[in-house]
Amino acid sequence: MLLLGKYSFGLGDRFAHQAKAQLRACVKAAERGVEVVPVWNKSNREHLTIGSEPSSVRAAADAAVRELNWQTSYHVDADHIRLETVDRFVLPSDFFTIDVADYIGRPADALALKSFVDRHGELVGHMEIPGIEPLEISRAGVARTAGQYLFAVQEAGRIYRHIEKAKGTRFITEISMDETDRPQTPPELLVILAAIADEGIPVQTLAPKFTGRFNKGVDYVGDVAQFDSEFNADLAVIAFAVARYRLPANLKLSVHSGSDKFSIYAPIRRALARTGAGLHVKTAGTTWLEELIGLAEAGGAGLGLAKEIYTEALAHLDELCAPYAAVIDIDGAKLPSAETVNRWSSGQFVGALRHDPTCPTFNADVRQLLHVAYKIAAKQSERYLRLLQECEPVIAKNVTENLYDRHLKPLFVGAR
Ligand SMILES: [Zn+2]
Repeated sequence: MLLLGKYSFGLGDRFAHQAKAQLRACVKAAERGVEVVPVWNKSNREHLTIGSEPSSVRAAADAAVRELNWQTSYHVDADHIRLETVDRFVLPSDFFTIDVADYIGRPADALALKSFVDRHGELVGHMEIPGIEPLEISRAGVARTAGQYLFAVQEAGRIYRHIEKAKGTRFITEISMDETDRPQTPPELLVILAAIADEGIPVQTLAPKFTGRFNKGVDYVGDVAQFDSEFNADLAVIAFAVARYRLPANLKLSVHSGSDKFSIYAPIRRALARTGAGLHVKTAGTTWLEELIGLAEAGGAGLGLAKEIYTEALAHLDELCAPYAAVIDIDGAKLPSAETVNRWSSGQFVGALRHDPTCPTFNADVRQLLHVAYKIAAKQSERYLRLLQECEPVIAKNVTENLYDRHLKPLFVGAR
């Protein structure tokens, strides 16, 4: 098995131009004594929108690692794959996010279900888990949770074995259940982990659905205290399950759409410090927004293109937002008109888009709309990519600063 380091960070790079600037953020953390393993991820949906191949992610990652002489580990994540989409990712990827959210709630075979419940008598009744209130789960409760999740875990097993057959065991397995409506509770997580162990999946990271909203590119929306307590309970359940079911010792939580969730970083950091647990955070493709910020900051043709993209995005609002409906919340009334934005200075555009919550001109609605508007840049890719080259220094600076100052530093490095 290929081992994933304790702290790892999923980097999205839709147009495959920022791997080096992204890696620089990990270099900065390393210079302060904290190893954060970079993992470049791109989902099938993003590849389809851009028209790119998974091998391009590997090529960009390898090139950045060479150029910056990065000596420690890094990975390429086949993000949110399923049995029908995994094949073209098998060769270039060494990290697989097996997405089984759509299989939650599908009925497992009745015999398999019964045998799961029979086999796991230890889950029934009073259970002491260090660090949290004792769990009380009835046999019916175990059956209910298994009824919800057993089929999904079995599907994860099918996908895992499919990859293993093609690739051997030298890869990292993540299982994701985040793209669903209802968060998994800590007792449910325990049942899920027992089922994962039964399937023999050497899972190293698990992305549950947490309480609250993880909208793309903006801060956490929800009850931070409740998140804090659930996150800590999840950590306790994982530590318990690792020992009880002999799961990989480095199994850790993965926070998807974890970029920009500034208000939960302090509780997460406290929990990691208290428990010594590891963490994977997957960003939400927001490096593309740093490209736009850089273009706008560069002024001239860069700012012109950024404004054009906004105008187009506004004109195709519904169509762009539809596939992301569950992960964005845009208040149309707060979106400035195209005419207004066309009059904006470079500073005004940057001020609206850059995620600085203390900046009075920051506009979370503009940011979410532009987040889903990468399709528009992809449509005029020649011009977009040419401007990325021309404005490279200012874009790279934004990419690195965003990742390091607003993410790696508060999550992993602290005030050192
Ligand atoms: Zn996800």
